[in-house]
Amino acid sequence: MAPAAVGALAFAAHRRTQNPNAPSTRIPRLTSAPSDAPASRGNALLACGVVGATLLALIALGHDGRRIAQLAVLAAPVVLWLAWPLKSARMRRVRTVLVWLWAMGFALDGAVRAYLLDTYQAAPDGAMVLGAAANTNARESTEYLWMHWRSAVVWSAALAVAGVLVGMFARRGAVFDAAASSVRTRSPFWLRSLVLVLLLVACVAYASKPWRRLHPAIFWAGWSQSVHTLRAAWADQEKVRDRAMAQARAIAPVALQAGPSTVVLVITDSINRDNMALYGYGRPTTPRLLAHKAQAGEQMAVLKNAWSVDASTLPALRNMFHFGLPHAENAENGKDGDNPPHLLALARAAGYKVWWISNHDDLAIEQQHARFADVVDMVNRTPGRASASLDGEILDCVQEAFADTSTDRKLIVVHLMGAHPHYSLRFPENANPFDDDVDAVETGLVKDGRSAWVRRFRQEYDAALLYHDFVVSELLQQTRTAGKPDEYRAWMYLSDHGQEVGHGSDRAGHSPSTASGYRIPAVVWRSREPLLGGAAQQQPFRADWTGWTLMDLLKIQWSGQMPERNVLGDAYRWQAPKIPVAVESFSR
Ligand SMILES: [Zn+2]
Repeated sequence: MAPAAVGALAFAAHRRTQNPNAPSTRIPRLTSAPSDAPASRGNALLACGVVGATLLALIALGHDGRRIAQLAVLAAPVVLWLAWPLKSARMRRVRTVLVWLWAMGFALDGAVRAYLLDTYQAAPDGAMVLGAAANTNARESTEYLWMHWRSAVVWSAALAVAGVLVGMFARRGAVFDAAASSVRTRSPFWLRSLVLVLLLVACVAYASKPWRRLHPAIFWAGWSQSVHTLRAAWADQEKVRDRAMAQARAIAPVALQAGPSTVVLVITDSINRDNMALYGYGRPTTPRLLAHKAQAGEQMAVLKNAWSVDASTLPALRNMFHFGLPHAENAENGKDGDNPPHLLALARAAGYKVWWISNHDDLAIEQQHARFADVVDMVNRTPGRASASLDGEILDCVQEAFADTSTDRKLIVVHLMGAHPHYSLRFPENANPFDDDVDAVETGLVKDGRSAWVRRFRQEYDAALLYHDFVVSELLQQTRTAGKPDEYRAWMYLSDHGQEVGHGSDRAGHSPSTASGYRIPAVVWRSREPLLGGAAQQQPFRADWTGWTLMDLLKIQWSGQMPERNVLGDAYRWQAPKIPVAVESFSR
């Protein structure tokens, strides 16, 4: 703001000199100076003005309110340097480079913040962005950029324009002219005062810690430190897990099922139920699950109105495995006796052997959940795998778990990539049947004004769902045919969160700010006892309560039971969750 203000005030002062009623301007101060000093000064002021205004525009994109002014003050000193006459040409070149680097630091900061704000309504130091950054490996980053290259191009273009503009004008800083300085050509009093005031305010800004911390260099250095700390905290959670296991043993849960029992939990990623034919979607994306439904009848419940309460993986899984109960602050580092128990710890304490079979390569999830299991298979880490990330790769591992004869009680957790971006990587090559002809879905999207690239993403997303249908159905088939026919088996399938693919807005990806980010599928199958009747399947279900339902499927009795949160029970009582978007009705 400061440099722009310089420009505005210079303009105001200029008008005042034209005003014949202002007596002080009657004495022509500068007209006696025969040099071009005012022209040079004008040049320098213009340079300050343009560099400052460019900077201010980018700062304003990524910040709001008082923050804009605070960052402008932090940026001001180096911009004002352009008005300081320099004699040596080399010094002026150094100044040009330094001013450019300085300005681009602020510009980059503004652009990154603006992008995050626009896409996720999130600040870079928010838990979601920090968690995602700490939890992302190089391959995932590449996939992410590939998916979002359009935004990247737009923001890079904006930065390039800013870079050229700043570069052009940073070269026009004030030049020390010996001839001109021999006559008195001091800048007007108001200008000197203004610069002085600005520099004083900047001194205050740099002396104040909370203010100084907004400086891009300091902020992003601190940010990368936070990411590093988070990763280090995840890297060894063994003590936390040991405490959770001790807590679970103290609770002493009891498995009531006599005889063999096998329970499968399939957690998938980024599946929006609105794209499943099983939920009434217009494209045939789930033929196999529909066939299972027709065969299984009352043993299979499709929960019509399932919702996640989180729009990203880490908090979603945390809620699923901790019964949606709140954690004490800083649970990772301190004592966590008051923290909710971990479902896998309870299952093990009740005598279950636990498998975690995952197609994710994910440090936080491995440390926070997977390592509770007796057997951990991170299939995605196997080097030299032919296909980068297709979920079908896990089927053999799951078959091995079914074949294991060392135990009577099995809990097999399967963590799939589902339709996690980039969608085109989630199905085999040339397996997209939705990209040739124009169908009702395509027509609807056109009518809603969705752009060509969002419609293309929708085709890929639906093809990913079709492949997903194959993997999920295979898992259900394996469960249905495992062991002896009279053995107790149960299967639950749900997504960690939804996905926006042109449903409510012209964009594709994770979506904390639209309902599509929370609309998930949830399906239960059980070998004995019919599941919910038709009416009960219309009851809304929330994914953070998964633990209560799963404990019912595991037939584990324990002191913390809350029957009103088990969607399969007669005592189930729905309570609407608090999610960051307005939902008209959770029952549709
Ligand atoms: Zn996810």
